[in-house]
Amino acid sequence: MSLIVQKYGGTSVGTPERILNVARRVAKNHSEGNGLVIVVSAMSGVTDNLIKLAKEISTEPTAREMDVLLATGEQVTIALLAIALEKLGVPAVSFTGAQAGIVTDGVHTKARIKNIAPKMVKSALADNKVVIVAGFQGQTADGHVTTLGRGGSDLTAIAMAAAVKADLCQIFTDVDGVYTADPRMVPNASKIAELSYDEMLEMASLGSKVMQARSVEFAKKFKVVFEVRSSFNDNPGTIVKEETSNMEAVVVRGVSLEKNQAKVTIGGVPDKPGVAVRIFSALAAAAVNIDMIVQNVSAAGVTDISFTLNRDELPTARKTVEPIVRDIGATGFTAQEGIAKISVVGIGMRSHSGVAASLFEALAAAGVNIQMISTSEIKISVIVDEKEAPQGVKAAHDKFGL
Ligand code: ASP
Ligand code: MG
Repeated sequence: MSLIVQKYGGTSVGTPERILNVARRVAKNHSEGNGLVIVVSAMSGVTDNLIKLAKEISTEPTAREMDVLLATGEQVTIALLAIALEKLGVPAVSFTGAQAGIVTDGVHTKARIKNIAPKMVKSALADNKVVIVAGFQGQTADGHVTTLGRGGSDLTAIAMAAAVKADLCQIFTDVDGVYTADPRMVPNASKIAELSYDEMLEMASLGSKVMQARSVEFAKKFKVVFEVRSSFNDNPGTIVKEETSNMEAVVVRGVSLEKNQAKVTIGGVPDKPGVAVRIFSALAAAAVNIDMIVQNVSAAGVTDISFTLNRDELPTARKTVEPIVRDIGATGFTAQEGIAKISVVGIGMRSHSGVAASLFEALAAAGVNIQMISTSEIKISVIVDEKEAPQGVKAAHDKFGL
C-alpha cells in the first residue's frame, strides 16, 4: 500500500460530471489499497468570479476579506467531491486548509506556509478514509483565514505530500505533462518523461503554465518527487525530481516561448556609479518585474541600457523611468512591443559546449533575427520579433533533435 497525494485543478473539477469522474478515479485508487489525500482547486472560473464580485462592491477590498472570500471556492469543491465519493460508497472526509493543519504567515492573498500539523488528516487516513483537502488556503497561528497566491493549490499538494511523507504526489491537470515545446506550435513536440526541478522552473512557458512556480521551488527544497499528468486520460505524465547524472546526457530538454514581452532602451546614460541603481530600484519599488538587462560598453562616457519586461507593465515602467531619464541626463526612453523570448533549457548545457552556437545557427537558417541574448547555467534565451517567434521555436526544436 502506498500513500498518495493527488491534486486536481480547476478544469478537472469544473462540472458535477467531472467531479464524479475524479471520484471514480479516486475510488479505483482506494480500492487498490492506497492511502489517499486529495487536494482540490476551486471549480474553474470560480476564483475569478469571486474577485469580480468583490471588485463590483469596492475597488480596494482589504486583503484579509479577499482571503475569506476566495477560500470559499475550494470549500465548495471539497464538499462536492466528498459527496461524490460517499455516493460511490467510498469513505471520505473533507477538510479546510485550517483543519488539515496548514499554518501560514499573515501576508494575506500570498501567504507562505510556516508548518503543517496534519493531525486530523493522519487520523482519518488511519480510519481508511479518503482525505479531501481544500487547496490554496491556510490559517495564521492566531486563526485568520489566508490564501497562498493564485495557483496555490499546487503548493498545498506539494506541502501536504512533504508533511505526510507521501510515496507519490500526482498533479492532475488538463494537459498530459510537460512537452519539449508547445504542441500547438510544434506538432512533433513530445512529452518529457523526466525533468529536474531546475529545468521545470526555467521552462517558464511550458512548466509554470502547468504549475505554480513557488510550488516547484517548495518541491525542490523538500525533495518532493511529483508527476504532472492529465485527469482526462490514463497516460503517464512527466516526473519532476532531483537531477540524476543521466539527465545531463540530454543537452536541451525543451524550447519555451514567452510572448507578451516588451523591450525598453534608455539611451545616452551617463557612465558613472549610481545610475543603474536609480533606474532599477525605482522599477522595483513600482513592483515592475524586469527580466533581461543589457548594458552596452560605453563610448565617450555614455552608454545604453536595455531591459525587457511583461508588456502589461510597460505603462508603469514608462511612468517610473521617464522622470529619472531626465534627471540623470540620459537622452531617451524608447519602448518596443511585439517581441517574444525564446529559451532553450537543459541541465546538460553545464557539461556540453556549443549550445549557443547551434541555437544561433538554427535561428539564422530560419531567417530569425536576434535582438538580445542572455544566458544562465542551464538556459539560453533570445529576444526576437514576435512574428518570427513560431519559426524560431520550430527551428530550435528541430536543431536539438527534440
Ligand atoms: N483557485 C485558486 C486560483 O484560481 C487556486 C488554484 O486553483 O490553484 O488561483
Ligand atoms: Mg492551476
